[in-house]
Amino acid sequence: MVPMDTLVKTPNKLGFLHPLHGYSEKLSNLSYCTKLQNQELRFGSKKPVVKWGRCGVLRASSNALLELVPEIKKENLDFELPLYDSSKGALVDLAVVGGGPAGLAVAQQVSDAGLSVCAIDPNPRLIWPNNYGVWVDEFEAMDLLDCLDTTWSGAVVYIDEKRKKNLDRPYGRVNRKQLKSKMLQKCISNGVKFHQAKVIKVIHEDSKSMLICNDGVTVQATVVLDATGFSRSLVQYDKPYNPGYQVAYGILAEVEEHPFDLDKMLFMDWRDSHLDSDMELKERNKRIPTFLYAMPFSSTKIFLEETSLVARPGLSMGDIQERMVARLKHMGIKVKSIEEDEHCVIPMGGPLPVLPQRVIGIGGTAGMVHPSTGYMVARTLAAAPIVANAIVRCLGSDRALSGDELSAQVWKDLWPIKRRRQREFFCFGMDILLKLDLPGTKRFFDAFFDLKPHYWHGFLSSRLFLPELLFFGLSLFSYASNRSRLEIMAKGTVPLVGMVKNLIQDTE
Ligand SMILES: Cc1cc2nc3c(=O)[nH]c(=O)nc-3n(C[C@H](O)[C@H](O)[C@H](O)COP(=O)(O)OP(=O)(O)OC[C@H]3O[C@@H](n4cnc5c(N)ncnc54)[C@H](O)[C@@H]3O)c2cc1C
Repeated sequence: MVPMDTLVKTPNKLGFLHPLHGYSEKLSNLSYCTKLQNQELRFGSKKPVVKWGRCGVLRASSNALLELVPEIKKENLDFELPLYDSSKGALVDLAVVGGGPAGLAVAQQVSDAGLSVCAIDPNPRLIWPNNYGVWVDEFEAMDLLDCLDTTWSGAVVYIDEKRKKNLDRPYGRVNRKQLKSKMLQKCISNGVKFHQAKVIKVIHEDSKSMLICNDGVTVQATVVLDATGFSRSLVQYDKPYNPGYQVAYGILAEVEEHPFDLDKMLFMDWRDSHLDSDMELKERNKRIPTFLYAMPFSSTKIFLEETSLVARPGLSMGDIQERMVARLKHMGIKVKSIEEDEHCVIPMGGPLPVLPQRVIGIGGTAGMVHPSTGYMVARTLAAAPIVANAIVRCLGSDRALSGDELSAQVWKDLWPIKRRRQREFFCFGMDILLKLDLPGTKRFFDAFFDLKPHYWHGFLSSRLFLPELLFFGLSLFSYASNRSRLEIMAKGTVPLVGMVKNLIQDTE
């Protein structure tokens, strides 16, 4: 048994698994990190490489949790992947850059229609590293229930010590291995070719594009899809990139015991009594709150994640770990060992990429993350057929479209005006959340989860569109306490004006 105090130390150097953009502000409060920042972080570049060493931001008391963190495990799937033959210089119909859930889903579906596809990724057989959670109905609608490894009959939200909400909506953890295996298998049987490399450049001609890879190979394709996640490798943006950041630290841990019901997952725990003995930390948490998210698998195995919903600049990982240690200690959760840990940094909101543009995008690269929640995987998988169908239609038998015209058609299907308006509303939601302190956040979610399920399910799963979103807003307002209403009016007026302006400017 390792005492709680010895719970934090990282042999894996707290290296971010995901590239960050504009992260310098976020780190500026890390006094010990200046040298590291200079040496290891490249800001504002298109491909920032972020390695977050142990910067001394954790206090001695929290340094030990990470002592239990294993080296990052990189498990590969046991598949023989058919390789792209670069010597032949063949032109493929579609090159998919990035083999995350977004890229593989489109590769699979376009190849289903008999088109030739090359999928390019530096580690095409690697099991995806993120612990994805989804609402079960979202996966059921896509016939993907076999890709959930654990489900809970409902979820729980703690607003404070006295108020607990039971959410009657099943939740599930994605079986990453199964989902990726299923997609890879279909890709292989459809004849998709794989190339293990990183794309560093794209050159366009009228009716084809050349992708230059870091191994010197050039892949030629009629259509290029950028599915490189938050690294946004090829898709262009023409507005300043100013997202909010969801930052979270998660551990899949073996514990002595935990207090959670095995049949429910913990969606949000906003209680802060664990910080009563540390007023400085409590004050920090009041200004920019974090909550606990947990998926209990058994009485001794649990995924625990301390999460900052959204902040600009994002919270430092050290701050989050410190809060997590205090919370687990207060709850009497003694961690015996850590199977894996997760450093989660999700850019939320911000501008959409240039619409349209020659390179097509999907997933993180195409602004598809939910700006108020950070969720995306279900939305992306549901959007993959839209992108795939548009590509197949445009590349169909008469090959009527190519180049910029073809891409414009696909972007139009991915981001029709009703989706852009929906996203604008979600960004408005994010702007309000960014301004709320802990008491305000508690009041917000107290009202939010009292809404009719149609509204809160629809909001979280991107199923509500503009007219209904206005009813959602009014309904939220009517459920809110008087104090919360005043707060929403005071803090929401400027974002509301911004949203209305953007809605008026964005026309068909
Ligand atoms: C830690 C974490 C946890 C998350 N948890 C959830 C969750 O629970 N639920 C949810 O809905 N969403 C979650 N998200 C948000 C989102 O769903 C994920 O980020 C998701 O993985 C995005 O999918 P993607 O396919 O767009 O990109 P990614 O999964 O990031 O895949 C991108 C792929 O592109 C490759 N690549 C990058 N650059 C290049 C290049 N130049 N050339 C070739 N290949 C390249 C990468 O190696 C990678 O394989 C989470 C995000 C993170 C970071």
